[in-house]
Amino acid sequence: MRQKLREAKLDSINGPADIAKLPFTYKKDILECFPFGALAVPLTKVARIHTSSGSTNKPITTFYTKRDLLVWSELMARGLAGIGAKRGDVFQNTTSQGLFTGGLGLISGAERLGLVVIPLGSANPEKQLETMRDFGVSVFHTIPSFGLRMAEVLESKGKEMRAALKIRLALCGAEPWTKEMRRKIEDTLEIDAFNNYGFAEAGGPGIGVECVFKNGLHIWEDHFIMEVVDPKTGEQLEPEEEGELVITPLDREAMPILRYRTGDITRIIDGKCECGRTHRMIDWMRGRIDDMIKVRGIGLYPSNIEKIIASHAESNGQFQIILSGIDDMLVKLEVNNATWNDSIAVANLKSALAQEIKRQTLLRTDIEVVASGNLPRSDGKAKRIIDLRRMS
Ligand SMILES: [Zn+2]
Repeated sequence: MRQKLREAKLDSINGPADIAKLPFTYKKDILECFPFGALAVPLTKVARIHTSSGSTNKPITTFYTKRDLLVWSELMARGLAGIGAKRGDVFQNTTSQGLFTGGLGLISGAERLGLVVIPLGSANPEKQLETMRDFGVSVFHTIPSFGLRMAEVLESKGKEMRAALKIRLALCGAEPWTKEMRRKIEDTLEIDAFNNYGFAEAGGPGIGVECVFKNGLHIWEDHFIMEVVDPKTGEQLEPEEEGELVITPLDREAMPILRYRTGDITRIIDGKCECGRTHRMIDWMRGRIDDMIKVRGIGLYPSNIEKIIASHAESNGQFQIILSGIDDMLVKLEVNNATWNDSIAVANLKSALAQEIKRQTLLRTDIEVVASGNLPRSDGKAKRIIDLRRMS
C-alpha cells in the first residue's frame, strides 16, 4: 500500500470525493506479496492470521491486530443483531472453523452478541440437524449450497424432524447465490435466511449484511468506503448502475488496503430501508467477473442458470453446467423423487428448461436430469461449472 501511495504522488486527500484519485488494489497485488508483503505492522503486533480457501494457487492471507479482531467481532455482532438474533438464541456454526474467515468470524460475533455458541464446524447435514435438535439451536451460519443440502436432508426426514427443531434464522454467505435459492432454503427449512457479505482481503465477513426487511445488503459505511465502478474503465458509477464493487476498509491496522477491486458485480441501491439504518445498501451480487464464462461468445453467469432452475419446484436446486467440445453446453440438474419417477414430468421439465435458458441467455443447451443426491457434493463451496473445453 505504501508503494501504491508513493506511485500515486498525492499531495493530500481532502474528503470522500478524492477517493477516486487513489490507486486500485487487485487480487494479484495481494497474491504477489504472499506471505507477509501486505502486512503493515510488525509481526509481533499480529494477533491472528487467516487465509482464503485458495481454490487457485496460493491463498489470500489476511492479518489482524487485537484491535482488528475486536472491530471484526463488533461488526459480526451487529450483523447478527440486524437479522434478529438476540440474547437467549442458540447459535450453531456449520462451516469450517480453521483458516476460513467465515467460521471464527461468525463465532466471535455471536459470542460478542451474547448468544449461546455451538462451534460444530464442518460435519455432515445429518449431524448438523441432530445437533440443532439436541440443543434447541435457533440461529445458524452456513454456506448457501450447504444450506440446500441440509434442506434436502431435512425434507427426507419428514415433518417430525422439523417439528423437533427450533431453527428460525440463518446467515448465509461466502459463495454466490440467488434469491431463488434463498426461497428454496427458507421454504424447506421454514426459516428466514439472510445474505452476508465479506471477503478475506478485507478481513472476511462483516462488510455488509441484510436486515430483517431484506431490501439489500447494508454496507457498514462507518468502517468501509464503497464504490461501484465500471469494470473496464474504473470510472465510478452512479447509484443503480451495475458494476464492480470496490471496497476500502477505513480502520484495519494489520492489513489496510486501498480501493480493493472485489470482482463482484452489483449496484448501489438508491433508496432508504424501512429499518432506519442510514448505511447504504447494495443489491445481491449478480456474479463475479471471474465467474463469467463465455459460451459461443455470450457471457454467462452460473446465477443466470440457477435462477431458472430454482424457479421450478421439481428441482432441488442442485445443478452443474458442463462445457465440452467446442462450446457444447449441458445443464445437469437433480430433481425430487416424485418427478424422478414420472417420465412425463421429466420430459416436460427438460423441454421447459431448455426453452427458458434459450430465451433468457440466447444459448442452446442440453438438459440432463438425475435423481436427488447424484451430483457430486462437497462440504465446501458448490462447483457449478465443469469446463472441459480446454482439455478437448
Ligand atoms: Zn434495513
